[in-house]
Parts: sequence; structure tokens; C-alpha cells
Amino acid sequence: MRNLIALFACSFVMLSASASDAPHAAKPAAEAAKPAPDAAKKTADAAAKLAAELAKPAKAIEKPAAEHGAKAAPSIVAKPLIDKPLIDKSLVEKPPKAAVTAATADKAAAAISAPDDEDQVDLSVRIAERLAEMRAKQAARVAAAAKAKKAADARRKKEAALAVVAAAPKVSTHWDYDGEFGPDNWGKINPAWSQCGKGNRQSPIDIRDGIKVDLDEIDFDYRPSTFTEIDNGHTVQVNLARGNFLNVGVERFELVQFHFHRPSEEKINGKGTEMVIHLVHRDARGRLAVVAVLLERGKANDAIQTVWNNIPLEKGQLGAPGIELDAFELLPNRREYYTYMGSLTEPPCTENVLWIVMKQPMTASPAQMALFSRLYPLNARPVQASEGRMVKESN
Ligand SMILES: [Zn+2]
Repeated sequence: MRNLIALFACSFVMLSASASDAPHAAKPAAEAAKPAPDAAKKTADAAAKLAAELAKPAKAIEKPAAEHGAKAAPSIVAKPLIDKPLIDKSLVEKPPKAAVTAATADKAAAAISAPDDEDQVDLSVRIAERLAEMRAKQAARVAAAAKAKKAADARRKKEAALAVVAAAPKVSTHWDYDGEFGPDNWGKINPAWSQCGKGNRQSPIDIRDGIKVDLDEIDFDYRPSTFTEIDNGHTVQVNLARGNFLNVGVERFELVQFHFHRPSEEKINGKGTEMVIHLVHRDARGRLAVVAVLLERGKANDAIQTVWNNIPLEKGQLGAPGIELDAFELLPNRREYYTYMGSLTEPPCTENVLWIVMKQPMTASPAQMALFSRLYPLNARPVQASEGRMVKESN
């Protein structure tokens, strides 16, 4: 019975140690053991050792818990190492009274006289068992903390990756002629448009210092054709039915579409015009040739009037008027031209485009100019560096 009381006293001390700050845990255990006689002192020492052992791993948990983060840490540190009283009901003849104070624990320890050897061995075994049980629980807690830390690390890593994606420049298919989506940024808006920023054969250019040579004659094999028409948000564009050709030397290109810019994108010796028409052609291999016809104020143009008459009411809506338009009426009488290798003047700014800029401008009436300026007051890309490109011009 006395041994049992001693065990109870030791257990109480251990409980107190676990509940209080870990570094001080060994102290009360040692104090409690002090008044005990020699034989009982062994048991008390074992209890003190146990309390000290318990204190150690508790400290070990604290560190990873703190690193792991504020949320998980308190639950692990604050949780007592011992879930239930160390004494099993089977170990005590009578259950201990509810309120046990430190004084009664001291008294109990002091009252113990020498126990017999058998009891001593029995107690040691039980303490060892309890110690093993508690170590296993601690190991489980450490493992759980490590698992939680790993999960939190993985979550943080995932969040960081998402943040990188969010911070990356957004890919867009929208472009404009000023502001954030303007010509200076076209190359950055979409990777497919990188030529707009990095290309060295870009259009338009300021045409000057052309080499005067005998250029191939241009033959415009155009005829009245049906067409569709669209205000695509960047310009008014006319798509012609098949059968209109441009022949330059041995090259033959088919007219695909024409559209308008205001002011003219091209400059000749630093000077532009109020508007320009771009007639876009493609050959059998997909190579592009664009004919630029500069527009000045003057006489009204019938073909332009037909185009204006049939602009769809809504942007992006494709109109099919069911009448014919003769693109030949858009061309000047004289066939002299400048020619150089350049690019499309809007995204994706594709290079290897043959440019043919007619020397003689055409005219449109002030009313015709005014109508387009209401839709597109400015839809021209600024001139690009010529990068030493050769410009040829007709003699
Ligand atoms: Zn154009």
C-alpha cells in the first residue's frame, strides 16, 4: 500500500511537471523525493528521471512547431504530454481523492517506509512501461507535426507558383493604336506578336534615298467583283471575291482584301497624306504583297463611296451587299512606285512582305475623308526604323 502511495505521489509530480514549463519539470520532482527514506528514494529518483525525460522531448517538439507556423504550433506545445493520470485504477485499492495538493503529495512521499524488493521491481517495470507508452505517443505527435509541416510547405509552394503565374504578363489578342495596347507594346502583348517589337524588317517606313532603277512593270488585272465588308475595330475592310490579280515581273499575286488608314502610315521624304488604302495580295506560296495608294483631298472616288455606303451598322458584323465593286477604280493612272521588303503594319507584324507604294496619290472628297475620320480618327502605326533596307523606285 505504501508503495502504491509513493507511486501515486511520483505520478502526481510527473503530472505537475508535464503541465508546467518543461525546463523546470525536474525541480519539483526532486524536491518531492527529498524527504523519502533510501528505498523509497530510488522510486522517487526514477520518477524524477521520468519527469526529466518527459521534459526533453517536449522541448524538441517546440522548435519544429514554431518553424511550422503560428497556426499549428500552439496546439502541439500546449497539449500536455500526458493524456490521462499515470495511475491505472487497477494499481490503487482505493481511488485517490479528487483534490490532491502538493502538500499531500509531499506528506505521502515522506510517510513511505522501505518497500520490499518485489514491489520495487514491479514498480520499475510499470514505470518503464509507462515511459515507453508516453514516448510512443510523443513520437506519434512529432510525426504528425512533421506531416503537417510538409503539407503546409507543399501548400506554400503551390501558392507561390500561382502567384508567379498571376504576376506574369497577361497574353491578350486585343491591340490598339494608343495607350497600354498601343504600337509600342504590341510585341509584349502576345508572344505570337514578338516581331512587332523585335523585327528588323518592319513597316511602315519613311521612304527616302530610293535607288532609281528600271523596275518591273506592274499589271493590275482587276475586275468588278462581289465583296463582303467589315468594320473590324481597327479599320474598314473589304474582302473581294476571287479573280483579281497583280502581276509584277514573273510574280503573280491575288487580291484578298483592302482597307484604310488615317493618316497614311507611309511617309515619303518625311511627308505623309491624309489617308492611305492598303491592297493586300497573296501568291500561291502564301507570300504577301501590299500595294499602298496614298489618298489626298480632291475629287470623290466612286469605289470608296460604294465602300462607305455598305459599312455594316455593327462592329464585327460581316456585310455581304450583293453588288459589285471595281478595285481598279482605286488605282492611279501612273504606275511608278517605290518598293522595299517590310511587314504587316498590325499584329502579328509578319515580315517578308513585298511593299509597293504607288508614287501618284489618289483623291477622296472632303466628305468621304470626314466620314472615315468619324470612325477612325487615328489608326496608323508610326514609322519603323529602316535598318539600312534598300528602297528601289521607278525611274
Ligand atoms: Zn494596312
